[in-house]
Amino acid sequence: MGKVKKGVNCSVAGCSDRAIQSISIDKVQEAAQSMGLKFDTKKSRRIYLCEKHYKEVKKYLKKTKKLEKWKHGLPFT
Ligand SMILES: [Zn+2]
Repeated sequence: MGKVKKGVNCSVAGCSDRAIQSISIDKVQEAAQSMGLKFDTKKSRRIYLCEKHYKEVKKYLKKTKKLEKWKHGLPFT
């Protein structure tokens, strides 16, 4: 799991909650587009998600079976 250092905020634009997970933007891009989320990533390819947004993304990926890959691969790297 991509543990997040204290003081890092959620990368979703307009959200300033504390991030609990970090994840490669490639893994969540499609989910984010479908959900209408915008990320304030600057030049990073890694985004940070707060609990709320992490749950939303996870739910979406589960629904679309994208989570399968995470179970067998390397989650949140
Ligand atoms: Zn958030």
